[in-house]
Amino acid sequence: MSADPTATDAGGELFVPAVTGSARPDARALPVTPVTRFAPAPTGFLHLGHLVNALYVWGLAQATGGRVVLRVEDHDRQRSRPEYEAALLEDLERLGLAPDEPPLAAFRAGATPYRQSDNGAAYAAALGRLREAGLVYACSCTRTTFAAWEADHGRPWRGIGCPGGCRATGQDDPAGPTATPATPGPALRVALGAGTERWVDLLAGPMADEPSASGDLLVRDRAGNWTYAFCVVVDDAANHVDLVVRGRDLLAATPAQIRLARLLGRSVPPQFLHHPLVRRVSGQKLSKAERDTAVREMLDAGSTPAELFGRAARLAGLRERATPIEPAALGALLRA
Ligand SMILES: [Zn+2]
Repeated sequence: MSADPTATDAGGELFVPAVTGSARPDARALPVTPVTRFAPAPTGFLHLGHLVNALYVWGLAQATGGRVVLRVEDHDRQRSRPEYEAALLEDLERLGLAPDEPPLAAFRAGATPYRQSDNGAAYAAALGRLREAGLVYACSCTRTTFAAWEADHGRPWRGIGCPGGCRATGQDDPAGPTATPATPGPALRVALGAGTERWVDLLAGPMADEPSASGDLLVRDRAGNWTYAFCVVVDDAANHVDLVVRGRDLLAATPAQIRLARLLGRSVPPQFLHHPLVRRVSGQKLSKAERDTAVREMLDAGSTPAELFGRAARLAGLRERATPIEPAALGALLRA
């Protein structure tokens, strides 16, 4: 067994796949005093993967004089749990990570627009604006529709709209979705339109893709949940977030989110930084169900926040060794 705590873990080795480019953004490209956000879903405990994300979020805010917004992304009402939200607030306190907006007490006091399940009125209002522009349609496609298309064509569906061609035939939900709570109904998509979106990712470099190439954006699913992509675009605009820091798994979703931001009236979309994801050697993503990488388990077992940030920095490729880093010193890691 290695003496290096990053190299082995109770459940298997952890690593970050090699990525092109540096793990550290070009200091000259960093925005000036950005608003960024830490936005976990309360569907499990914070783990080492979240810690890598937090390291970039708070580190970039420290390095640029920016601010951190905390958002609880519990748009998925079937999987989110209040006890996980309580745990993540507690874990942030134990790690010494304080958001600039809102104070943690705002979440404990009750409803807040920084919690997606309390923010349904904002999503309904945004949907209303897209409806007025004639961009929303009901989509009756199911997994079976996608599977049938794949069987016919010998490859997974990719195209404009949706495989069933629902924009031409589908009816928008005449009653409109209720703001809250989620109620089942037709799935709703927004037509993204043609053209390419170009942006410069702060780590992945220059990017260009057609937002609609993999279909129109789902804004509400059949269970009545607002979708992740829709909520975050509405929330980022409302919170004036202009630097989105998240994992590489969301890189492909970015052009559609930039386009949606434009459709909702945001003339300057946010900048993006997509960092590498921590994985197991087996190739699996870390799971919130696995306790060996849970932040609270590691703190309970005696690790200090500085030791955990040291591990995260090494996993992210920001340092060669997992030497401890105090939470207040994360900015220096990203400025270097
Ligand atoms: Zn459809």
